Amino acid sequence: MDSSPRPSRYDILFEPVQIGPKVAKNRFYQVPHCNGGGYRDPSAVAEMRRTKAEGGWGVIFTEQTEIHQSSEITPFIEQRLWDDRDIPALARMAEAMKSHGALAGIQLAYSGINGPNLYTREVPLAVTGGPILTFTADPVQARTIDRDDIRDIRRWFRNAVRRAQAAGFDLVCFYGAHGFGIFQHFLSRATNGRSDEYGGSLENRSRFVREVVAEAREEMRGEMAITLRLSLHEAGALGFSNAEVRDFIAMNSDLPDLWDLAHGTWESCSGTSRFVPEAAQEDLVRGIKDLTRKPVVGVGRFTSADEMVRQVKDGVLDFIGAARPSIADPFLPKKIEEGRFDDVRECIGCNICVSGDMTGALSRCTQNTAFMEEWRKGWHPERARPKGPSESVLIVGAGPTGLEAALQLGKRGYRVTLAEATTMLGGRVARERKLPGLAAWGRVADYRSGQIAPMANVETYLDSRMTADDVIEMGVQHVAVATGATWRRDVVARQHLVAVPTDPAMPLFTPDDVMAGEGPVGGRVMLYDDDHFYMGSAIAEVLVARGCQVDFVTPATKVAEWTENTLEQATIMRRLLSLGVNVIPCKAPDAIGAGEVRLACTWTGAQSAMPADAVVMVTSRTPSDALYHELHARDWRAAGILSLKLIGDAAAPGPIAWATYAGRRYAEDLDVPDIGDALPFRRELAELRP
Ligand code: ADP
Ligand code: SF4
Repeated sequence: MDSSPRPSRYDILFEPVQIGPKVAKNRFYQVPHCNGGGYRDPSAVAEMRRTKAEGGWGVIFTEQTEIHQSSEITPFIEQRLWDDRDIPALARMAEAMKSHGALAGIQLAYSGINGPNLYTREVPLAVTGGPILTFTADPVQARTIDRDDIRDIRRWFRNAVRRAQAAGFDLVCFYGAHGFGIFQHFLSRATNGRSDEYGGSLENRSRFVREVVAEAREEMRGEMAITLRLSLHEAGALGFSNAEVRDFIAMNSDLPDLWDLAHGTWESCSGTSRFVPEAAQEDLVRGIKDLTRKPVVGVGRFTSADEMVRQVKDGVLDFIGAARPSIADPFLPKKIEEGRFDDVRECIGCNICVSGDMTGALSRCTQNTAFMEEWRKGWHPERARPKGPSESVLIVGAGPTGLEAALQLGKRGYRVTLAEATTMLGGRVARERKLPGLAAWGRVADYRSGQIAPMANVETYLDSRMTADDVIEMGVQHVAVATGATWRRDVVARQHLVAVPTDPAMPLFTPDDVMAGEGPVGGRVMLYDDDHFYMGSAIAEVLVARGCQVDFVTPATKVAEWTENTLEQATIMRRLLSLGVNVIPCKAPDAIGAGEVRLACTWTGAQSAMPADAVVMVTSRTPSDALYHELHARDWRAAGILSLKLIGDAAAPGPIAWATYAGRRYAEDLDVPDIGDALPFRRELAELRP
């Protein structure tokens, strides 16, 4: 791999920067980010942070850490610092963060109006009481805090600072962004309706954060630094707008040791690449540096070193903040430092990582297959485990599964043959990257094909559709069939487990047809979506561009329901409405006629007929596993094949992240001794009290 030194124009990114009493070794700042592991998987989280330290980040933060049991955000799994018993897990994380000279930061959060306390059952306490504002619409209200409560919360922050220091952290971040932290709740007139000295004027609304910061400084005795994470712009007439944020920073310019600025809601801040380009927050943050002598960090899904340099040189930012780019490539700073730009594994902006947190699972990353498996499985974002005793592997199919398997096996040192039927690498990604807004998804294929191209031990064959005879004749030791899946042409998915009566006169199409440039052009098209992720709305956009009048029918109560987990659902709905798509929720086809579809209400079964010139089914996918089954039925062992595996979408269709993961899993498990029924990952169990 190229290890040429970087051109000098990037040197500015590697200058040390002072943060209060601490010095960051460079400008790469991993802002706080969730990971779905939190307090439940402390060692998994610590080891994930360690890879960032190894990868060269100057500052590394925890996810949000709840400072007190009276404010927690179950079902979301973050960190807790409720009492001294939480210190050891966080100390393990701080130690990992500092292992390669990074500063270790902890984000302290009191969730107030954002915390339903479903686990602790405490009455939620908010700046101004009212229904809890979170993703889950819990039927719970918070009580308005009085002066005694405010004193208590200030003391709890003080306790948390003391515990954070005991755990070994260098920096404390007070969380007041994304609508999630009490600092924002005080600052915003939308959530602060108080008439006492903590409400009303901006000065009064700033009182709480000033008090907490002053008390934290006393507690720290000059040994830690304080950062304040604020929303750059809260929408709405009463929201803490960008103009007020600037007034606040001008009034309190020396309050924290660093300003950490992030767009209004989490949805706005962590927009997907489908809707939000790189560096999209520049206008909101530009000029803020002129209001303060303290360094400023901002985010914007930065993966381009040139863009980073520009933002620093233009005086927009002092630090390049990154959550997702640091997840997709924990070694981003090191690769830029060493001038290895082609080795950067760029975030594709898909928000699958976010979905891990939203679903209470352990987060995954489409690009970095080792994410959150560093400790559980011993995977590493850059290194592969040593080669085992066998030598050769054939991978059939070069989609995300096959490409990742080839890359990881290539790194391990196997002789790899990657055979692809078409003339392009990437499989589904080669098709889906052409859908509106999804160009960045092509990085899944580009990164992997770029990495395997120079590997002498990986040979790639395009235009090579493999038959069972071809495979048998190859004389390889291991065969992985990664031949993908195709979209079904009928209604079968979740709502319908069997097909409905269908008149063959109705033209039926699939996303595969539309992506191949086939399917309806003009006319009235019914798109039936029982997939609920991105594909339905992306295909609807294509159809609108082709001049079709689109009726978007879904049995769900809202379009693209699962994209709540990628923070896109509202944006998708807005996009469809702005394109003139007719959205019809809570309905599903009962029968498909020649020029119409009979729909049934999913609640009552009430029938209605809708005219349609064609129907596009976005329902479910059929694994392309014929080659595997043909091989399986033959005496493949007699041909010298030691193992035959079906992997990725060809085994069980899922999102692209599931495919890259399947490729990694195959490569990691090859030649590893059989562990029988043992658990294939490490985990931590709750400690039983006597
Ligand atoms: P996954 O997401 O699991 O990687 P994809 O559908 O993206 O699945 O990719 C599967 C790839 O396998 C496609 O590029 C397809 O052209 C290729 N393929 C399918 N059948 C064969 C075959 N018999 N020989 C070689 N390549 C194949
Ligand atoms: Fe980026 Fe997607 Fe990975 Fe998240 S899951 S870090 S958005 S590539």
